[in-house]
Amino acid sequence: MRKIGDNIYTEIYFWGCNPGFVVTNDGVFMIDTPQQPIDSVRWREVIDTHGPIRHLVNTEPHPDHIMGNAFFPGVEVIGQKGMKVRYDEATPQMVSSERTELMKQTDLDSVWLLEHPSYPPNPPTRLFDDSLTLELGGQTIQCIHHPGHTAPQTSVFIPKEGVVFTGDNIFNRVKTFIQEADPWQWLDSLDKIAALDADVIVPGHGEPCDNSYLGEQAQIINDWVGEVQDFVDRGLTLDEVLEQPRPKVDPYPIGQRLFPMTDGLDQRILNNLYPRIVARQA
Ligand SMILES: [Zn+2]
Repeated sequence: MRKIGDNIYTEIYFWGCNPGFVVTNDGVFMIDTPQQPIDSVRWREVIDTHGPIRHLVNTEPHPDHIMGNAFFPGVEVIGQKGMKVRYDEATPQMVSSERTELMKQTDLDSVWLLEHPSYPPNPPTRLFDDSLTLELGGQTIQCIHHPGHTAPQTSVFIPKEGVVFTGDNIFNRVKTFIQEADPWQWLDSLDKIAALDADVIVPGHGEPCDNSYLGEQAQIINDWVGEVQDFVDRGLTLDEVLEQPRPKVDPYPIGQRLFPMTDGLDQRILNNLYPRIVARQA
């Protein structure tokens, strides 16, 4: 576990996203949850030593940010209003015979926890639109809607400590997932993240970083858009694009054990960007 502020911690070596938490005089505020059940229950035991857990915010609806929610029963879950439907859609995958069978191959320690009756799904119930500011035990915590990587994407800014958790609007030197993103909203949100002028950025994946990485993150998104724009300009259909060699625009490997997804991910990025670019110039 990494201490990144006087009262703020994150873990960047889980399988899945970088969850974190803020310790206040009135309990703990969590950002995201570990995807593997055994990681979530261990994470909870670590956090419990810092105080009672008061709130949890999910920065986005992808499974690696929300699948651990079940292991924090009784904690109020916060999310941008678009999170509710996405969480409900994802719930059947969280406890399924497919997941149990996969886990028997990949994570035996988690199997017994997966269908444990103490841990039903724990969706966001406190929803916000543009932003939600909480005063908790001497800390101000701002949840800010920054659509991009996903539509309900949320940043969590703790101004007193100069720390912002961006979720997957930032992939620090690991492969950027653009499989459902609106790239132009994402670039706009990167400018808004820069304007927070935080000292430390906790990305969704990869090491903590700072504003100096934002330009490179924007470049990777711009380069993907440029490659797909080029295909469109050459008159290629989406099927023809998918036959082409994959564009080599992202210099980084997939982070945090998500590597089996590499080729499928490039295909999903093309499937996402192509119709958006065609629609934009129509
Ligand atoms: Zn994501």
